[in-house]
Amino acid sequence: MTGNSNICYVKTVPDRCRVCYTCVRECPAKSIRINEGQAQVIPERCINCGNCVRVCSQGAKQIVTAIDAVEELLRGPDPVAACIAPSFPVEFMQDYEFRVLVGMIRKLGFKLVTEVAFGADLVAERYRRFIVQNKKGQWISSSCPAVVGFVERYHKDLTDKLVPIVSPMIAMARILHHIHGKEMKIVFIGPCVAKKAEARSNKVAGEVDEVLTFSELREMFEKNKVDPQSCEPSNFDPPRPALGAVFPMSSGILRAAGISEDLVTNDVVATAGIEDFVSALEEFASGNLDMVLLDLLCCSGCIMGPGITSRETILQRRTRLGHYVDYRLRGLDKGEWYTQMTRLAGLDLSRTFDPKIQTLEAPPTADIRKILERMGKFTPQDELNCGACGYATCREHAIAISRGLAETEMCLPYTIDELRQALKEVEASHARLQDAQEALMHSEKLASLGQLAAGIAHEVNNPLGVVLMYAHVLLDECPADSSMSADLQMIAEQADRCKTIVAGLLDFARQNRVVLQPVDIRDVVSQGLAATPVSEGISVVVQNELEDPTVEIDKDQIVQVVMNIASNAFAAMSDGGRLTIRIRQENGSVFLDFIDTGVGIAKENINKIFEPFFTTKQIGKGTGLGLAVVYGIVKMHRGDISVESNADALRGPTGTVFRIRLPRRGQNEDAA
Ligand code: ADP
Ligand code: MG
Repeated sequence: MTGNSNICYVKTVPDRCRVCYTCVRECPAKSIRINEGQAQVIPERCINCGNCVRVCSQGAKQIVTAIDAVEELLRGPDPVAACIAPSFPVEFMQDYEFRVLVGMIRKLGFKLVTEVAFGADLVAERYRRFIVQNKKGQWISSSCPAVVGFVERYHKDLTDKLVPIVSPMIAMARILHHIHGKEMKIVFIGPCVAKKAEARSNKVAGEVDEVLTFSELREMFEKNKVDPQSCEPSNFDPPRPALGAVFPMSSGILRAAGISEDLVTNDVVATAGIEDFVSALEEFASGNLDMVLLDLLCCSGCIMGPGITSRETILQRRTRLGHYVDYRLRGLDKGEWYTQMTRLAGLDLSRTFDPKIQTLEAPPTADIRKILERMGKFTPQDELNCGACGYATCREHAIAISRGLAETEMCLPYTIDELRQALKEVEASHARLQDAQEALMHSEKLASLGQLAAGIAHEVNNPLGVVLMYAHVLLDECPADSSMSADLQMIAEQADRCKTIVAGLLDFARQNRVVLQPVDIRDVVSQGLAATPVSEGISVVVQNELEDPTVEIDKDQIVQVVMNIASNAFAAMSDGGRLTIRIRQENGSVFLDFIDTGVGIAKENINKIFEPFFTTKQIGKGTGLGLAVVYGIVKMHRGDISVESNADALRGPTGTVFRIRLPRRGQNEDAA
């Protein structure tokens, strides 16, 4: 097996990652990158502590399994030894006695089942000797592979401070190879992910063949239907341990080594846990610590390792381990243990370490500033340092973004702001869409009304002409003073009125032609006003904002528009008021705004006023054709007409505004 220092033994299950940033926050090596909505581990930065596996509530982070590789070893020709980590009682002794567990492991095909705790005994003894001989220096314990990985990557200068002694796992492999020969294959079974990486690290590669977690061992039992009832219980194979069994607890190494208080009074500092080991290393690097050995474990002791499936609390686990160690120590053959320790006293347990280039240059301040501004953080007060993104400060988050490890969306306050903004925009565009839809429905309705009107008008127009013609013929033949003549006069007059209505309908239906000619729009407005009788108490104001008043329109038709709208406005101001006509320009179009202070148009009517024959006036006073004709004429000019009105005095002054848009240069051929 060749060594490779950058293998990552944690994989992401893509569909399960909900991007909650918990793993980002909890990763001591900041080795998790958010990319395309997935939290991915960066192998070069990962120390394989497995903390992300433990903290991910969605099970999106999983440990890479070695089950297949181990099964292949077991099928192979060489004998395979299982080396069980000393934390095993925490995992298995809720379910069965240790002898049953040993029997079950043998059933899987392992030739030997041994306790790594004996390796720990030997390692502890070497530590004791090392400390005594190197009291002048300052050292960091090197039994925890995650701590070693962290030092190698992020405290390169401290790699020569790591105690140059192998971990109990490697020690046990060397012991078994020493006793049983090189062909003995070694499978370590424990609570740890980092052990998988340690087994393949350049400096100790080829000593341990495979590493299983306790949970993988459980899987193997299940897969191979290993039943505790049908297994023959047996003891572990020698060499059997003494106090090395307490190794997986914080400061266990010191207890196992019997490093007594009077030997190195206050000279040993022990700490365990993700945050504590990182800050302890920082303190160590700063040179502020006055001690000889800094004993560090990454998890809160190996009994809390990510490869353990137990749900017990740390205190329950400690008690469980304590009971086991106590039981085993009482039955320990001390003479035998001593013999083994002496026999192996000369075994080489040394190792070296392998600093890895991982230091990243700090990005320029200006870049960080820019990124912070992108997240809406312009002043130090804007930097909330809420930690929701997984980084302790906004600045650290910005640095991670500049290194491509994080995304701006991870900033919760920023994302909430963005969402609010987006929501507002969606609401606004929804409102605009609704308006447009209403306008469209309205104009469609008017268009189909127009078709109907045009149809009727055409059919009625000709017979009407005939009636009118014959009425005149008869009128000519009839003596002027006869009573018949008066009746014929009446027929002709009413038929004429019908003709006007039909002409109006044709206007509305846009069936007539417009003849566009350049005219002075001011003249058109005043002609229209002059032809509209106005009652007392009403004032009319015309405001012209056009520099060039020449507009291409059909003069007669626009005069009619002015007349119709003005007469409606006057009718709405029977108690007096003011009509303002503003002539203005906007984006190449001319606008005619008719603003009156009349009674206004009731809300329920505003959508109906352009329909032919809609009127609120008394019979005989209104035909309901005025605005229909206006609408038709404006459309024939390729213009638009809109209306705004308030008829509710409680809401403010009543009145109505008609806005007519006309293209400055008409398109004759289109309009025809
Ligand atoms: P008519 O004037 O024959 O009733 P119109 O098509 O000209 O027909 O007008 C339709 C209706 O629109 C009017 O009956 C009136 O209710 C309403 N209306 C039009 N213009 C105004 C206005 N300036 N103020 C108040 N109501 C108006
Ligand atoms: Mg009218």
